[in-house]
Amino acid sequence: MDDKNSEAKRLKEQLFYEPAHADDFLIDADKTRADEFCEGYKAFLDTGKTERECVSEIVRMAEKNGFKRFAKNTLYAPGDRIYYPIRGKAVILTVFGERSLSDGVRIAAAHIDSPRLDLKPNPVYENTDIAYFKTHYYGGIRKYQWPTIPLALHGVILRADGSKLSVSIGEDEGDPKLVMSDLLPHLGAEQSKRALSDGIRGEELNVIIGSRKFPNCDSEAVKLAILKLLYDKYDITERDFQSAELEVVPAYKACDIGLDRSLVGAYGQDDRVCAYTAVMAALDTEAPEYTCLSVLADKEEIGSEGSTGLQSMFLAQFLGDLCAAEDADVNDVMRASECLSADVNAAFDPTFPDVFEKNNSSYLNRGVVITKYTGSRGKSGTNDAPAEYMGRIRAILDSENILWQTGELGKVDAGGGGTVAKFIARLGVTTVDLGVPVLSMHAPFEVTAKYDVFMAYKAFCAFFKAE
Ligand code: MN
Ligand code: MN
Repeated sequence: MDDKNSEAKRLKEQLFYEPAHADDFLIDADKTRADEFCEGYKAFLDTGKTERECVSEIVRMAEKNGFKRFAKNTLYAPGDRIYYPIRGKAVILTVFGERSLSDGVRIAAAHIDSPRLDLKPNPVYENTDIAYFKTHYYGGIRKYQWPTIPLALHGVILRADGSKLSVSIGEDEGDPKLVMSDLLPHLGAEQSKRALSDGIRGEELNVIIGSRKFPNCDSEAVKLAILKLLYDKYDITERDFQSAELEVVPAYKACDIGLDRSLVGAYGQDDRVCAYTAVMAALDTEAPEYTCLSVLADKEEIGSEGSTGLQSMFLAQFLGDLCAAEDADVNDVMRASECLSADVNAAFDPTFPDVFEKNNSSYLNRGVVITKYTGSRGKSGTNDAPAEYMGRIRAILDSENILWQTGELGKVDAGGGGTVAKFIARLGVTTVDLGVPVLSMHAPFEVTAKYDVFMAYKAFCAFFKAE
């Protein structure tokens, strides 16, 4: 016994908060279900490597589970299930509840865009008999992490005649992949003197796409050979890249990590881990008391901008459309609504402990993390959820035996970040961040714990069915 005084021991148990590890908290049935649940999660990650692919997959899953496409001016009944796609890059799933919309709705809002490399509008060039794509990175990446890993190309191209081509190269067995080079250590002495943030520069993110020449061609023979190949296969010319959205992402698939298979390793888990769990919660919610929405948004990684990001009106417009059919006041609806901003937080990394404050970090295998506020410096740019709402979510999670923890994004003044929370709060909706702790967030290969993933699913289910 640590404490000689048994009174002290008893009081500590009564008064101290001791975080629990999922292995000591979860019942055996939930441990088994967590592993099973993550098989579907890994498949989702492999199918949806871009926001567009995620929307397609979510719509497919929704239709399979009885969701119908939203039709304006329709009065929906309790138990009805609809999906509302926004320009193919965001989607809202809705399960209608017993109560009037005026009593408020329950919103789980995740994002389905992830950090990546986008092709520039004029991406193709040749240098010293190698053909390349020029890229412009999207979201917060550490550029040095991206060279020398297998890459795939995903996206869409609009041809001159208006026809649309969907592209996915590098994912199927036998597909060619792409790559960016880096220096060998033997010649890396000068580069190694660069700061880590400058180790690979923006204009060095050049993707190799070919090296063989078109015959009897005096200049740019490799570029010509590649463009001929693309023309033969896809009927596109160089100009067509200007009306395209092409994203370079890691080519590898999601997998188990750890000798005990306790973790999931994959690209794009921020924030597809919350997207998948919020979608699954919507699919598994039947006849709730309140109408439930799972919102899967685009553009979070660049500040929720654009018409498919949550700074746009699309969520308010959709609520307005629902209200028009029911003759409800959309302002009443938003004021009475509650939201879980479903996004990841940084898991404490024992290899790099200095940036974390250990009493206020989230940890792998300690369940979903509630993040009261994000932001930077003096809570600048954050939603900062009210205590009353923290208390409400706490009660919901506890009532369903869901393991949860709180976390800040690192030490005070160590950095910062944001989520969609403040943009939904702007509508007058009470909001807090809840999600899954992630190791190596924004890296081409991120890590989550299976128990935490399953707890997120259970948390969204509990939120949707709460009174
Ligand atoms: Mn995120
Ligand atoms: Mn992010």
